This record gives sequence, structure tokens and C-alpha cells, in this order.
Amino acid sequence: MSEFDIIRRFFQRPQRAGILGVGDDCALLPAEPGAWAVSTDLLLEGRHFLKDADPKTLGHKALAVNLSDLAAMGAEPRGFVLGLALSEFDAAWLDAFTQGLYALADAYRCPLVGGDTTRSDSGLSIAVTVFGHVDARRALRRAGAKIGDDIWVSGALGDADLAVRLLHARTAPDHGEWSQEEVERAPFHENEVATEQQIRAWIAGLTAKQQQELLERTRPRLDLPEPRIALGRELSHFAHAAIDISDGLVQDLGHILGASHCGAVLFAHRLPLSAALKDIPRPVALRVALGGGDAYELCFTAPASLRTHVEELASRLELPLTRVGKIQPGSSVVVENACGQRLTGIPGGFDHFGEAGASVSLP
Ligand code: ADP
Ligand code: MG
Repeated sequence: MSEFDIIRRFFQRPQRAGILGVGDDCALLPAEPGAWAVSTDLLLEGRHFLKDADPKTLGHKALAVNLSDLAAMGAEPRGFVLGLALSEFDAAWLDAFTQGLYALADAYRCPLVGGDTTRSDSGLSIAVTVFGHVDARRALRRAGAKIGDDIWVSGALGDADLAVRLLHARTAPDHGEWSQEEVERAPFHENEVATEQQIRAWIAGLTAKQQQELLERTRPRLDLPEPRIALGRELSHFAHAAIDISDGLVQDLGHILGASHCGAVLFAHRLPLSAALKDIPRPVALRVALGGGDAYELCFTAPASLRTHVEELASRLELPLTRVGKIQPGSSVVVENACGQRLTGIPGGFDHFGEAGASVSLP
């Protein structure tokens, strides 16, 4: 099958009126007043996903992580392009991949309008670029947080990160640098944040059945993140600053703080945890909620005078919005427990060029 047959069969779809999509040298999207919000994300085999990753899930995720960036900007999706490097032609794979991709594209009225398809000698890579529309004056920037603002997050945190860890443990079981006996002799303390080694030892100490059950409960949040487009649109009317959480709450909030020149306090007891994360030792839940990547929830700041407004918005959107902290003077993130004591060992999140970035991070 030639490159052009692949494009015709898998990527050419009937297009909405007013858009020239796949098939010419460029796509044409109608110009509108306002600004284009443009974002791109690259997913590489061996780094972001493994060779045997489920193609339908990959299709969803490749677009979802980009739509999440539009959401964080308060933009409305208009279309996307897809760069695909394939190591082989596999019709079943492409069918499943486009199924996941188009289901999400249709749900958010964000058509595939173009792309590039090529053969790869170094595994599969997927590059998606999305285009969204936003009123430039209303775009949700990282800069803009004000001292005294409340810090809010949507949904629940930590599930995706725990799922990644459980998948890792399945392929490379280990106890970290601690033996199981050492962990048992040094149990977690309530209100502590678990260390990396403690988490690894804790996972290794679970039975295969416990690991599997926990994976089944947390994995949907890793595989099928839901971009918070409607929330972003609403926030563009009143939030001071926003970001989507891709690398961990502490790290991504840190970007807001850097851009806004302020500091923040997070309240550990207020972090929104799924039912699955409420069932695990709290120090583990705290670590994955504070530092876990791949959440694709929005973190935003808003004046304290708008609390009721945010609460009403949460019920209107049927999406939990939780007040997790406050913007304050300074330049860093501190985390406090319910008694106002400061927690130590706060995880910083994921950095592709950091130590943890050296290996595959995602299934
Ligand atoms: P060109 O050589 O002018 O770049 P191509 O032959 O690469 O054009 O692509 C032909 C058409 O198919 C273009 O409209 C391009 O946008 C589209 N296309 C190619 N690959 C993809 C893809 N993976 N997804 C969507 N559209 C694609
Ligand atoms: Mg081309």
C-alpha cells in the first residue's frame, strides 16, 4: 500500500463546510477575529509508550494531550494536523488508532485537516498539532496569578502516575534500594510524603492480584484523559492564570508561580483523590497526587471572592473543582497538612532531561 493509499484510506474523511481538509498542499481554515491558539506534542515509541501499546488508546491520547493545552488556554478547538512515522504498514493498527483519534476529534468538533505520513526506521512516532480559537484578551495565561488567589484543580490527581508505576512494576519488579523487611521496619507515617523507594517497595509488597486490581481502577485515567475544554472556556472569563497538569501539580503550578512572580501554599488534606487513591497508604497517595504526571487536569487561580462562582461552575459542568491552596508572596511551593505543619520531601514532577527522564516513562 502506497503512502497515498494510506492517506486516502485512513486520513481522508468528509469535511465540514468551510474547511479544506486532507488532499491538497495545505488545509484551509476560515479566518476569524481573535487569535489562533496553537500547540504541538510529540509521542515517541520507547519514550512515551511501548511497542505493544494499544493503538486505540494511543489515538485518543495523542489528541487528548493537545486538546488539554487548548483547554488550559481557554481556547476552542478548530482542527488538528497529524505527523505520523510508521515502522510498517499495519491496517489493523491504523484502523484502531484512527478509531480512538476520531472518536475524540468528533466529540470536540476538532477535525483532522492535514498531516504527513512517512516510514520510520526507529519506531513509531506521532506528532499532533492542534489549532484553537481564543479571544486574545481572554486567553488563560500562566502569568496573572495574584497574591491571595485561591488555587483550584479539576478532577482527581495521581491515578495516572500510580498506573504508570504499577505497569512498570509488572515488567521490572523491584524493591528499590530497600528490602521489604526494611520497609516494614520503617512504616509510613500519616502526613508524610512517601519517598520513591518507599513507593517502589510498597508496590513490590502488594500481591499480583492487588496490583492488578489497583491498575484496573487507575488505568483509565492514564489511557483516556478527558481534555477539560468546557472548563477552560468558562475559566477564560474570570480565572487569573491556568495550566494543564502534565508533569505533576507541584511542577506545573511552579510554572504559574514563575510566570506570575509569586509563591504558593498547597493544602495536602484538600488534594482531590479518586476512590482508588483513598484506599492506598496516604503517603503514597500524596506523592503521586503532588508529583504525578499525565493527569491532564487544569490547575487555575481565581480571586477568593469568586469561590461560590467556581463551586457553581463545578456543579454546572458536573466536574469536581477543588480548592487546594493559595497564592502567597515568595517564589516556591510549600505544602501544609491540616495542622498547618509543613511537609518535607515534596516531589518536583517529571523532567524529560532529569534523572528519571532517562528511561521509558509510559506504557
Ligand atoms: P505534500 O507532499 O504536499 O506535503 P503529502 O503527499 O505529504 O503532501 O500529503 C497529501 C495530503 O495528505 C495533504 O493534504 C496532507 O495534509 C495529507 N496528509 C498526509 N499525511 C497525513 C496524515 N497522517 N494525517 C492527515 N493528513 C495527512
Ligand atoms: Mg508531506
